[in-house]
Amino acid sequence: MKKVLVLEDESSIRGFVVINLRRSGYEPIEAETGEQALAQLRANPDIRVALLDVMLPDIDGFEVCRRIRATDSKIGIIMLTAKSQEMDKVTGLMTGADDYVTKPFSPAELTARIDALFRRTGGADEPEQDTICNEPFRLNTRNRTLEKNGERIRLTQIEFSITKLFMENPGKALSREDIFKAVWGREYDGDLKTVDVNIRRLRIKLEDNPTQPTYITTVWGFGYKWGF
Ligand code: CA
Repeated sequence: MKKVLVLEDESSIRGFVVINLRRSGYEPIEAETGEQALAQLRANPDIRVALLDVMLPDIDGFEVCRRIRATDSKIGIIMLTAKSQEMDKVTGLMTGADDYVTKPFSPAELTARIDALFRRTGGADEPEQDTICNEPFRLNTRNRTLEKNGERIRLTQIEFSITKLFMENPGKALSREDIFKAVWGREYDGDLKTVDVNIRRLRIKLEDNPTQPTYITTVWGFGYKWGF
């Protein structure tokens, strides 16, 4: 079964999400508090996507995200944010979330996001070359890992997808819209901050000096490029 963790303290919203997930063929695992969510993840290591509400009675959703990411870089994480919490998007992404959905959201929108994350975490990729080498990096598409100078770099699924896109297109300027569409698997929806925040996070992991990037370089007024 395709297990999805649903962390939401408001039972009406949680119930709505759960019903819609079941209808789309997922098995929702419910949690009302941050601690419950972490316990559910320990009990269900096969959960592949987690939906995390931000405002919770115990620890907030960002902290839950941070704790999950401390031990698990593979699971897909979607933050459920309120419209008034504009900054939540950036904070959430910086703590390791892959995506966010703003309340109120439609069931179709939410399942589309979950489907996209499942596709990325599923390993049901089309047959392709196993490794892409671009010194000092070596990217393995089969087990979705990246090494720099032989050392494993821990990436989230989104970070892996962005790196793969870059390494498949060395030297090509990619617009932020292109990156969004290729990595998140849907049309640009008016907020490209997601791309920038992920690039910022990725630079911290990949670059020798993140303030003077040489691998992921900026194409001013357009987007980003792998190399010069
Ligand atoms: Ca809440």
